[in-house]
Amino acid sequence: MELLETSALALARAIAKGELSAREVALAHLARIDTCEPHLHAFRHVAAEQALAAADHVDAQRSRGEPLGPLAGVPIGLKDIFVTQGLPTTCGSKILAEWRPPYASTHARRLAAAGAVVLGKLAMDEFAMGSSNENTPFEPVRNPWGCTPNPRGPWASDYVPGGSSGGSAAAVAARQCVLALGTDTGGSVRQPASLCNLVGLKPTYGRISRFGMVAFASSLDHCGTLSRCVADAALALQVLAGHDPLDASSLRDAVPDYLAATARASAGLVGTRIGVHADALRLPGLDAEVRRAFEQSLAVLRAAGAELVDIALPHFEHAVATYYVLCTAEASSNLARYDGTRFGLRVARDSLLDTYAATRHAGFGAEVARRILLGTFVLRADSYDRYYGRAMKVRTLIARDYAAAFERCDAIASPTSPLPGFRLGDKLDDPLAMYLSDVFTIGANLAGLPAISIPAGFSTPSETRPRLPIGLHLIAPRLAEPELLRIAAVHEAATPWHREVPPCP
Ligand code: GLN
Repeated sequence: MELLETSALALARAIAKGELSAREVALAHLARIDTCEPHLHAFRHVAAEQALAAADHVDAQRSRGEPLGPLAGVPIGLKDIFVTQGLPTTCGSKILAEWRPPYASTHARRLAAAGAVVLGKLAMDEFAMGSSNENTPFEPVRNPWGCTPNPRGPWASDYVPGGSSGGSAAAVAARQCVLALGTDTGGSVRQPASLCNLVGLKPTYGRISRFGMVAFASSLDHCGTLSRCVADAALALQVLAGHDPLDASSLRDAVPDYLAATARASAGLVGTRIGVHADALRLPGLDAEVRRAFEQSLAVLRAAGAELVDIALPHFEHAVATYYVLCTAEASSNLARYDGTRFGLRVARDSLLDTYAATRHAGFGAEVARRILLGTFVLRADSYDRYYGRAMKVRTLIARDYAAAFERCDAIASPTSPLPGFRLGDKLDDPLAMYLSDVFTIGANLAGLPAISIPAGFSTPSETRPRLPIGLHLIAPRLAEPELLRIAAVHEAATPWHREVPPCP
């Protein structure tokens, strides 16, 4: 188990020194996948052959004395939204089930250049729409922390891993891979990180390219990372960040040394101001255990020297509604390309229009269809001003609220998710309840700000609920990732939570 507990940073160092071979690291993780997958369903596709070839390449480079990349030999999984050459990319949808992309995403290319070993593609909500991984035509992913003894054996978990990057979170939590990439449009990296006791980082909009990430809502979509410690998030960001000429929204700003920022954690937080948004804590539906863990986290930050200041975000209550108008509008436009003509599923009918309709009817699931309909409605000529235009204005007000808050603090703290986790099926009939999962995370997407979720404790186990992870959420000003990672690293160094291992054997 020890090898499986090692961080990406330590693995890369051990492989570079020759203390471990990339092949033995890959084999250990592939064996773990064999053990867990029948129960967890985190992988859509395991790429054992390609992974071993990549590992052997790293070992050969080392034996020739060539320099190794920063992630050389580190086993990583990619959410099945990242376009990969030679591996399927389904985006969790029947409409892309048979698609074999002719090119690779910037992320896949940068990871390969850094020596990372891609173990496969990870399950997700269809087109990244969801908070539980249940919006899928495939087997839903289970949360490794939700294992409860029952007649089906100690492996069975009835709990969702969060979403939409739930496969990425479950795989890292269950030690099937060391790092995983996810995407975060409204919280899809941070909410599953919170539900699976992981570090989930979503950087500033434009910091990591979107080229080769299947589009959901382009102005909100971000690539993010899932890892078991803050230093690994910094390491992955170091590899992925930086200008990409293939993405027009990619930033040209120089990439700072993120790992150095996490190493400064020992200096504590004297002089750092943490903004606490008290209104958010009055949210109806906020779980009492989440509130308790949050208060404990604030005490940890204060003990490290941080000053806590009250801040106001006057338009906070409108964030979820604003997000659902904008993300559905953008999705309705982005998903228009799946019409059976150029790629993906095609259900041929006599006329072109009937072919479009039959293909889309057969290919899209209920949540995707709901969002396309809603998005088409808010963009209609007679409702544009009332919905889309107004939501764009509120988005600006929300971004201004953050700018004003950051005059008074260096980062804003809140819980990540209002609930520690929920059972499969619990929220399926109530899309609105599901949408509220992202109430704390959506603002950072609307404003394009860097944000992170880190392990912050566990719920008390009871007869109705197992011991489930709880996350702390931090948002920082634009491009303040070093500061965000430093604060997260201080909290991590002062708490034991990230070292806990889930109960799945
Ligand atoms: N849960 C949110 C939604 O369903 C966010 C999804 C995401 O970040 N990709 O849209």
